[in-house]
Amino acid sequence: MYSFNYVKPKSLAEVGEFLNANPDARPLAGGMTLIPTLKARLAQPSHLVDIGGLDELKGIEVKNNALQIGAGTRHVEVARSPKVREAIPALADLANHIGDPAVRNCGTIGGSVANNDPAADYPAGVLGLGATIVTNKREIGADDFFQGMFTTALEPGELIVRVSFPLPKRAAYQKFAHPASRYAMCGVFVAETGNGVRVAVTGAGPGVYRWSEAEAALGKNMSADALAGLATSPDGMNEDIHGTREYRANLVNVMTKRAVNKLLGR
Ligand SMILES: Cc1cc2nc3c(=O)[nH]c(=O)nc-3n(C[C@H](O)[C@H](O)[C@H](O)COP(=O)(O)OP(=O)(O)OC[C@H]3O[C@@H](n4cnc5c(N)ncnc54)[C@H](O)[C@@H]3O)c2cc1C
Repeated sequence: MYSFNYVKPKSLAEVGEFLNANPDARPLAGGMTLIPTLKARLAQPSHLVDIGGLDELKGIEVKNNALQIGAGTRHVEVARSPKVREAIPALADLANHIGDPAVRNCGTIGGSVANNDPAADYPAGVLGLGATIVTNKREIGADDFFQGMFTTALEPGELIVRVSFPLPKRAAYQKFAHPASRYAMCGVFVAETGNGVRVAVTGAGPGVYRWSEAEAALGKNMSADALAGLATSPDGMNEDIHGTREYRANLVNVMTKRAVNKLLGR
């Protein structure tokens, strides 16, 4: 049987103190990933620290030319938020295509980003937009945050408080969803930012990554035609019962072209 204790601190400070004092405790947000992980006996935390009711982790606001989304904000709230739809419609679109209604009504942006599933959607949006992950201890740029499959720069006991997305000029996300789970077989986020074009790919490789050749080509010419000469190597791509390496490598090109066309309104 499972053996853990359940606690529900009343403030962010209390959560931080508890996690520091109990290194084997784990925060519980929407539970969409953590509960199945416990059921499969893949994690054995000493305590589940319920952060679901903390107001300090909620909220969406546009401030200092950035869209700030509290870590406890559920996918459905991002998808429906007029503020997100106006500031970064591509992010609302991304959230609207995560899983199914049950997943979107429970799962949170903080849980998704902390988990860094190699087929999750938010990591592509966070990396593609060059967002900053604000924790209870520091700020971490997206380029330093994602460190491969289920691995991030978060230290034990460190809690994501919010994610801050600089407003892009234009952006779009396109994914080829697994027909059962809706996780990305391949998802590509393309953003035209003040610092150039960023292209982030999820689902195809062992973790989210930037496709620098596509960024350079699109920086010169924001058009699907600019990608014509680029080929993604199947080396290092994911391979499983759902698709071969070659299939996923091809999907990277196809989804990037579709994302660019979407960004251009075509
Ligand atoms: C059937 C199904 C389909 C899905 N389809 C998709 C999909 O299409 N695309 C997609 O992107 N995702 C998908 N998901 C995953 C879903 O988006 C989850 O919401 C997400 O992976 C985890 O979020 P959560 O809030 O449920 O986190 P939890 O399950 O509560 O936690 C996940 C992990 O993050 C940690 N954590 C949680 N919050 C924080 C925080 N603030 N700071 C630090 N650590 C934290 C927890 O300790 C745990 O280790 C799917 C899940 C299911 C069950």
